[in-house]
Amino acid sequence: MSKTLFEKIVAREIPAAIVYEDDLVLAFRDIAPKAPVHVLIVPKRAIPRIAEAGPDDHAVLGHLLLKAAAVARTLGLEATGYRLVINNGQDGGETVPHLHVHILGGRPLAWPPG
Ligand code: AMP
Repeated sequence: MSKTLFEKIVAREIPAAIVYEDDLVLAFRDIAPKAPVHVLIVPKRAIPRIAEAGPDDHAVLGHLLLKAAAVARTLGLEATGYRLVINNGQDGGETVPHLHVHILGGRPLAWPPG
């Protein structure tokens, strides 16, 4: 199986502006930011998308969300707020088949999404 784009970032085969790393997850700045702060946090072991996560992924998914909130705090977003987004499949706008949580903030975000 070929590596996903984000597995290549995890392996340092593609450069990225990394903001957090531990044994299970990596967070890095989105290359095409949609808000003043736009960071992606991914599990290092690729899960294609949330719809394909299973019971074995229980712990890493909890860790991913807790660390998304911790990264948002570190980036100074806690006081003003932020949004976490997971795009799943075609209609969800998923373009990279490696589960990732978008951390978006630094401006008021519209709702509902387009
Ligand atoms: P999604 O559309 O939810 O699958 O999100 C994929 C995100 O990955 C988009 O916001 C892209 O801008 C971002 N992206 C694509 N390539 C890179 C890269 N090399 N480094 C950082 N972010 C990237």
